[in-house]
Amino acid sequence: MMLIAPEKLQKVVEAILMGGGSSAEEAELVAWHLVRANLTGHDSHGVGMVPAYVFIQHMDLLKPNTSVKLVKDDGAILRFDGARGYGQIVARQAMDQTIARAKETGIALMSLANAHHIGRVGTYGEQALKAGMVSIHFANVVDHSPLVAPFRGSDSRFGTNPICIAVPGGDKTDDILLDMATSKVALGKVRVAMNKGEEVEPATLLDKTGAPTTDPSVMFDEPRGALLAIGAHKGYGLAFMAEVLAGVLTGGGTIQPGNERHNSIINHMLAIVIDPTRLGDRDWMRGEIDAMVDYFKASPEQTPGEPVLSPGDPERISEAERRANGIPIDDTTWGEILDVAKANGVSAEQIEGMVG
Ligand code: NAD
Repeated sequence: MMLIAPEKLQKVVEAILMGGGSSAEEAELVAWHLVRANLTGHDSHGVGMVPAYVFIQHMDLLKPNTSVKLVKDDGAILRFDGARGYGQIVARQAMDQTIARAKETGIALMSLANAHHIGRVGTYGEQALKAGMVSIHFANVVDHSPLVAPFRGSDSRFGTNPICIAVPGGDKTDDILLDMATSKVALGKVRVAMNKGEEVEPATLLDKTGAPTTDPSVMFDEPRGALLAIGAHKGYGLAFMAEVLAGVLTGGGTIQPGNERHNSIINHMLAIVIDPTRLGDRDWMRGEIDAMVDYFKASPEQTPGEPVLSPGDPERISEAERRANGIPIDDTTWGEILDVAKANGVSAEQIEGMVG
């Protein structure tokens, strides 16, 4: 395990992506998004994704230097196509346009199809928060084998379908950012457990026969096991509706097997951006959020040392710690990064020179 400063990791990722043909601007933005995922504690969506991106680009299923296309401008509804561009670029561009529209119309709906992996969805929530907006996001994951079992099912049929809701904080409270997979854990977290020789929590995984297991290797053998959705039928219901909203309403398509799977990672996302100033007195709203959060957080700790938190607090805590101490990168991930760097014409010596 190494600890690397975020600025150094950013330079490493930029060099690899530019080696793959990305413009300096694209490489900087994608690297920033990935490093930010690590900073906020979501290593499953951080720089460890770079090897997958490089492989997928070599299969010509990820198109660098692609801008989002506005397919239809329809008042408060904006329909975009990501054309397999870097999700971190096309989703950001689509959000920029949707936020600008919501400033005019009070509310805007963004439909984005065919983005390559958009990464940490909370980053788009943060984009809305920066503009003072509320945002709600539903995404599905296609062009990829399914990973998650439907409630009462025994094998995987859909992706980890993330949902994100971002609301500006009060005068004294931080912004509220719920950003979650609808599976109990991300596949990346199962991989980390396997690499460390650890078991996963009970009631997280099914093996290839559909029996519950704590053995993470079932997700990396063929035939593969399945992740379980959060919250039994209710979490499954959220994942189901994310598949419908992101897969059907965007026109991108769902994970049903009639749609081709090329083994890349495509996200479709439906997002709603709301200008809260159009709904009432912002001073009152901020005060109400402060009072509500104070009330929740005053609940006595069930376990000493584990206070009540707001959605978004764990990411702020992680960011402060990792900015101070560096981002932990395990040896397997680092080895994979060095391999793909070489494939993109960046030598191990150059990378070592960047991290010191
Ligand atoms: P997680 O379980 O670590 O956190 C989920 C949410 O719960 C976060 O908003 C967090 O702030 C909140 N939270 C955690 N502990 C809390 C506590 N004690 N009190 C209050 N709130 C708390 O995250 P996850 O579900 O593993 O998702 C990880 C990341 O993976 C997310 O950024 C998500 O967008 C991303 N993701 C992306 C895709 C994709 O296809 N692009 C798919 C799935 C997940």
